[in-house]
Amino acid sequence: MLKSQRELEIMRRAGQINALALLAAASVVAPGATTAEVDAAAADVLRQHAAEAAFLGYPGAYPYPAVTTISVNDELVHGIPSDRRLREGDIVSIDCGTVVEGFVGDSALTVPVGEVSDEAERLMDATLTALFAGIELMRPGQRTGDVSAAIQQTVEAAGFNVVREYTGHGVGRNMHEDPQVPNYGQPGTGLQLRSGVTVALEPMVLAGAAETKVLKDQWTVASLDGRLTAHFEHTVAVTDEGPRVLTALDEPFTLDGLMPVRYNQYFAGRRESAISSMQGDTR
Ligand code: MG
Ligand code: MG
Repeated sequence: MLKSQRELEIMRRAGQINALALLAAASVVAPGATTAEVDAAAADVLRQHAAEAAFLGYPGAYPYPAVTTISVNDELVHGIPSDRRLREGDIVSIDCGTVVEGFVGDSALTVPVGEVSDEAERLMDATLTALFAGIELMRPGQRTGDVSAAIQQTVEAAGFNVVREYTGHGVGRNMHEDPQVPNYGQPGTGLQLRSGVTVALEPMVLAGAAETKVLKDQWTVASLDGRLTAHFEHTVAVTDEGPRVLTALDEPFTLDGLMPVRYNQYFAGRRESAISSMQGDTR
């Protein structure tokens, strides 16, 4: 499961295309847009790059029918794009996977539809902050439990809860491979990280209780109590030079309509918002 430098470069290409797909999808998010239209924007990007969709046909109760998963409000992950129209105040989690030359890039983000509640903003911020806390520890010598614990502590310090049933995961030739990296754990436990390990870190966070249910469509996972959820994910490589976010966008980039500094940081794959000044808006 250790990736060579050459393999990391292929994964970087997959990750870059995946980021472009998420950016295109997020740019469609607006009151009145359907989640199928959001999915179509991501699918277009994959088509333009002749890249394969990792999610389409993914085995489950039935083969997964779309390029992205789009999960609205209480829906946490695996929501199926449909004719559902987004409404002002919703928050929308978009997850996408891209395959290039047999290697997978996997990443996700949550975006607001217009103005959203204070709780929704705090939830998205805490989830992204937890992702960066995990990324920071993706270094040789750290253990997966250190990464898991950092994510859990960041989320719980903000007053929210991490999901137990779904985890971050190794990624490469397959979308899900070893090691598992849960969003909760004990420091000093788990696999010791080495240069060449690649993991999709993905805090999935619930504003309320950490209990979920699967909806009637047999794919969508939602909070049991109906409260809001958020999800941010990056594919990250452990290298001797430090964490390398494979699903970031090459800089400089322009965020069409996605202005909050949170998204500069997300797409840059790093917390310092060196590029935010380019946007003229650092909300
Ligand atoms: Mg994903
Ligand atoms: Mg994943």
